[in-house]
Amino acid sequence: MKQVVEFFEKLLDMSDWPSRWKCGTWTDFHGWLYIISDLLVWSAYFTIPFIIIKYISKRHDARFIRLYFLFAGFILACGATHFFDAVTFWFPVYRINALVRAITGIISWITIFYIIKVLPMAFTLRSSAELEAEVEQRKKAEEKFRNLLEGAPDPIVIVNEEGLIQLVNAQTVKMFGYTRNEMVNQKVCMLMPMLMPMRLEVLEQIKSADQQGDGSSHISIKEELMGTRNTGEVFPVEVCLSPLITEEGLWLSAAIRDISKMKQMERTIREANANLERKVKQRTAELESKNKELEQFAYVASHDLQEPLQTTSGFVQLLRKQYHGRLDPTADQYIDYVVQSSGRMKTLIKDLLDYSRIGRGNESRQVDCNVLVQEVLADLHNVIVENGVYIKTSPLPMLYNAYATELKSLFQNLVSNSIKFRKPGITPVIHIDAKQTNGFWQFSVKDNGIGIEDQYQERIFVIFQRLHNRSIYDGSGIGLAHSKKIAELHGGKIWVQSEPGVGSTFYFTIAEN
Ligand code: ADP
Repeated sequence: MKQVVEFFEKLLDMSDWPSRWKCGTWTDFHGWLYIISDLLVWSAYFTIPFIIIKYISKRHDARFIRLYFLFAGFILACGATHFFDAVTFWFPVYRINALVRAITGIISWITIFYIIKVLPMAFTLRSSAELEAEVEQRKKAEEKFRNLLEGAPDPIVIVNEEGLIQLVNAQTVKMFGYTRNEMVNQKVCMLMPMLMPMRLEVLEQIKSADQQGDGSSHISIKEELMGTRNTGEVFPVEVCLSPLITEEGLWLSAAIRDISKMKQMERTIREANANLERKVKQRTAELESKNKELEQFAYVASHDLQEPLQTTSGFVQLLRKQYHGRLDPTADQYIDYVVQSSGRMKTLIKDLLDYSRIGRGNESRQVDCNVLVQEVLADLHNVIVENGVYIKTSPLPMLYNAYATELKSLFQNLVSNSIKFRKPGITPVIHIDAKQTNGFWQFSVKDNGIGIEDQYQERIFVIFQRLHNRSIYDGSGIGLAHSKKIAELHGGKIWVQSEPGVGSTFYFTIAEN
């Protein structure tokens, strides 16, 4: 320690040694060869660091800057040892010389350690041949991209983040009428004013996708905008905007399609639709009025026919009462036929009158279908018991806008038909159910009766249409026509699903409100 302190105290002290010239025997040639060689090495070592620092200051992209500085320091220190070797020929500064060598040694080892540390990284650097190959590859990729751009069937405009046009293809020139030079580096709003806000929307989406770590490759926005040609003509376009990651940063590619023809077609279709709707409305109104007229006619006819029929029937009955057995047997038989027929005619006319009266004068109101169906079943109590019918009823809804009398008659028709058309030899089972579907209540009355063949499943809803002879099944063929009119009165419809020999399910819908 004492020596160290003494070393630094006497750092500049040269009294301990003679100068080098006086140390040993030097010939001039030997001494100057030593001195000049040392100075040459020193001057060269002194210049190299400046060159290195100049290089670094010019190459902003240079990597391993610290290594360059260490290297510069190391060479400078090496040079300094040679300089002091030459100096000692006149000034024996051996202490400074030793200190400079110590510093050189330290810098040399720091440099070595640093080189070892950065060596793996240095190995990853590409060689100039590799770099050239990469540049070549990029050139090819760029060319390919440009070819693709040019070959695209639609106009494509590539803009940078600020919305300045960077690239356009031939289709864009054709569509908008500007030359490439007139478009490149101009704001894209010159072609489509609303693309600027659309661009912001995409950028916003990219930002949030990046934040969520989703990646932005899937992002694309499609919108209908207006384009402006160089003539000032404005036309509708559909634009699909998506991000394009490039060397120059984030760009956006806008694929454009002229949709003038499509819009024109849409307009034509809209007009045609409106026209059709108008015509349908007109036709419906005409049909409704015709229907009303017919209903009115049926009502008046059946109403007015009742009276002469009543008279005819009354007198024929009188005739039979007073002259039965007094005329010949054929006459008696003829009178019987007339009585029967006029009776049937009365029934038909009454049914027709009832049919034309459906919905007339009645007010719609709140109806609890559970209560209503119980009333129907009570009315049919005798026939239910007589035929040993098993009836199952699911919970039914409350209707807020229904015609109670008509609805009751609908259920009555369906239930009594299910009993009437039961299958002999088995217990008739009827299930009444309801469910909600798309703003309607859908009711169903299911039986295990004789069923109906496919070809008759629509016909049975037509007035006076029957499938069986009156001698087998009694009836006038108006019940289902009635039911259809009642379902329609409630904004719904009626239909049947049936399998002969298995049973039928009659469905009808009632609008919920
Ligand atoms: P009607 O019962 O007076 O004959 P409808 O209009 O009620 O008249 O029925 C028309 C026809 O539909 C019936 O004659 C019958 O053939 C058939 N039908 C109706 N309901 C059923 C049913 N539940 N099962 C089998 N057939 C039926």
